[in-house]
Amino acid sequence: MIYLKTDDEIELLRQSNLLVGKTLAEVAKLIRPGVTTRQLDTIAEQYIRDNGAVPTFKGFLGPSGIPFPASICTSVNGQVVHGIPNDNPLEEGDIVSVDCGTFMNGFCGDSAYTFCVGEVSSEVLQLLRTTKEALYLGIEKAVHGNRLGDISYAVEQHCEAQSYGVVREFVGHGVGKNMHEDPAVPNYGRRGTGVMLKKGMCIAIEPMITMGDRHILLEPDGWSVRTRDGKYAAHYEHTVAIGKGEAEILSSFRYIEEVLGENAI
Ligand code: MG
Ligand code: MG
Repeated sequence: MIYLKTDDEIELLRQSNLLVGKTLAEVAKLIRPGVTTRQLDTIAEQYIRDNGAVPTFKGFLGPSGIPFPASICTSVNGQVVHGIPNDNPLEEGDIVSVDCGTFMNGFCGDSAYTFCVGEVSSEVLQLLRTTKEALYLGIEKAVHGNRLGDISYAVEQHCEAQSYGVVREFVGHGVGKNMHEDPAVPNYGRRGTGVMLKKGMCIAIEPMITMGDRHILLEPDGWSVRTRDGKYAAHYEHTVAIGKGEAEILSSFRYIEEVLGENAI
């Protein structure tokens, strides 16, 4: 069941999603060698609660029945998504995907950004750039009258053209009163297939792209997903509202990139 949102509901979704963008910017301020992902989680949870919202990820029951123990997912290097914050210090050259969800005024925000820790190699930078470009190419297709497969195809083509792996087991999704609504939004697929996109549909588009092959493993903690070959993975996510002519991006990287300044990729 796909719920179409009214303009008023989209406005509430935007507020929740902007808070996610601002929370990720607070996290961005702290990312450097030596900081732990648990420290990032503490700051994020505090900021979300100080702004009258609730971190949607905390306590969320996963497929393995284990509640997610933190407010953000922090996926380092070969981890793809759903990494659990811990006490290991980040190191120069690492990358960390931070995924954040909020619940505010009845609506969910969901957005993710992959950060560099200090200087990273040019190969890794290229992975990050390509993944982010793929996200925006997908968003360009998120317009009324297109098909869902148009988004999927745009993401997949851009990444596979550079021989990156496109993770298939995890996908984007509808966003609304619930964090995960219909439809599923795969990062692979065929043009002109899938559900017709309509104004008022709100979806999270979130390419999860690997430097090696696309295969993944679930770690023993029941949550963290990592590449099977150990190669790095990137993840960027925006929540968008399907519009006529163009999509409206409800989340925002602006606050993050103001913090990153000239280091933004
Ligand atoms: Mg997310
Ligand atoms: Mg999501």
